[in-house]
Amino acid sequence: MPEPLAPAELLRLDQDHVWHPYGPMPGRAEPLLVESASGVRLRLAQPAHGQDELIDGMSSWWSAVHGYNHPVLNEAVRGQLDRMSHVMFGGLTHEPAVRLAAKLVEITPEPLRHVFLTDSGSVSVEVAVKMCLQYWRSVGRPGKQRLLTWRGGYHGDTWQPMSVCDPEGGMHELWQGALPRQVFADAPPAEYDAAYADRLRALIAGHADELAAVIVEPVVQGAGGMRFHAPEYLRVLREACDEHGVLLVFDEIATGFGRTGTLFASEHASVSPDVLCVGKALTGGYLSMAATLCTSEVADGISRGEVPVLAHGPTFMGNPLASAVACASIDLLLGQDWQGEVKRIEAGLKEGLAEVAGLPGVRDVRVLGAIGVVQLDREVDMAAATAATVREGVWLRPFRDLIYTMPPYVTNDADLARICGAVRAAATAGT
Ligand code: PMP
Repeated sequence: MPEPLAPAELLRLDQDHVWHPYGPMPGRAEPLLVESASGVRLRLAQPAHGQDELIDGMSSWWSAVHGYNHPVLNEAVRGQLDRMSHVMFGGLTHEPAVRLAAKLVEITPEPLRHVFLTDSGSVSVEVAVKMCLQYWRSVGRPGKQRLLTWRGGYHGDTWQPMSVCDPEGGMHELWQGALPRQVFADAPPAEYDAAYADRLRALIAGHADELAAVIVEPVVQGAGGMRFHAPEYLRVLREACDEHGVLLVFDEIATGFGRTGTLFASEHASVSPDVLCVGKALTGGYLSMAATLCTSEVADGISRGEVPVLAHGPTFMGNPLASAVACASIDLLLGQDWQGEVKRIEAGLKEGLAEVAGLPGVRDVRVLGAIGVVQLDREVDMAAATAATVREGVWLRPFRDLIYTMPPYVTNDADLARICGAVRAAATAGT
C-alpha cells in the first residue's frame, strides 16, 4: 500500500488535477474528502462545519439504495473477484452476466426480452437510440431518425442523450446547434390535463414520418428539474406511438428499482416500453453498470437488416464484478419488504417536509416514494445551502432552485428526520 497522503495534500492535488462533474479546471477548493462510507453515513477525512460524519441524503445520485459497505454486496464482489474481475465479452460469456440478463428480463415488463449490458447510464441511452434508429433502417424506413421528448428532461451527458436533455437553460445549452435536432413537447403537467394530452398526440402524429422514437423519463423528470407528472401521460404516449408507428423508450435510470414506490415507474400506468434503460441502483451503487432492454420485435427488426448486428461493444461490457453485485443487489431488494420501506420513507418525507412548505420563499414541496423535493422561488445559494446541510450532519446537493433528497431505502426514521431538518436549513440558508 502507498503511504497515505495528508488531507490537505490530497485536496491540493485534487484541485490541480482532477475534473469534477460540471467543474472548472483548476478545480474549486470545495469538495469534502470522504474517507469511508458505511450504512447511510459518509465519514470525512477532516471535519467540515463541525461534522466528521454525514448522513447521505442523495444515495450517491440515486444509486446506493442499500447504503454503503453492505455485507451482502461486499461478499458478492469479493466472491466474484476471486474467480474473475473482468474478461472481454466478445466471443466469451460468463455466469454473472447471463444471470443478470435473465433476472432483468424476469423483473421488467413482459415484452422486454433482450439485454445489452453497458457501463453507464448515458451509454445505455446511446444504445437505446441506436437500437431504435437501426430498427427503422432495417425495416425499410431509414427516414425515421429523430427523437421526440419532453422539455425539462435529462438523459445523460454523451452526444445523443444531450440532444434530448432540456434544451433551454439546461445543462447542455452550450451545444444547441451542434447536437442532433430533436422534437420537444412541453414538460408534462403534474396533474392530468386532457388538452395537454391532445397536444402530445398531435405532435407525435405530425412528426411520425421522421420519428424513430419517443424517449422520456416516466413519472419523475430527475436532473432536469425534479418534476413529477401524472402517470396517465405514459398511456397517452404508448397509444400514440402504437397508432403512428413510433418506438417508445423509457429511461428508468433514476426511477428504476423501487425509487417511486413501484419497482419501475412505468408500473404506475401499467405501460411497457419497446426499449428500457436502467442503471444507477442496478448495482446498488457499487460499480458502474447500466443496461438497455428491448422487445423481440426491436431485436428481430435489427436482425432482418442489411447490417444484422447492433454495432456496439464497449470494452467493459458485462463486467463480471458489476454483474455479480447487480444480481446480489436485486436479490437483496426483492428479498425484503422494499415496498414497505419506500412507503415508510415516503411517509417520513411527507411529514418532515410538510412544515417546509410554509417557509417564506418556498414555492412547492413534493414527495413521491423515496424522493423529496423542495422548490424555491429563487436560485439556491449553493455554498450557503450546502454549508447549512453539512452543519446539520447531512449530505445534500442543492442546485438551481431545488433542494432535494433521495435517501437510501435503509435510512431509519431518526436519520430521515435529520435529513428533513437539513432540507429546511438549506431552504432558509442565505436569507
Ligand atoms: N438518464 C437519467 C434519467 C439520469 O438520471 C441519468 C444520470 N443522472 C442518466 C440518464 C445518465 O446516467 P450516467 O450518469 O450513469 O451516465
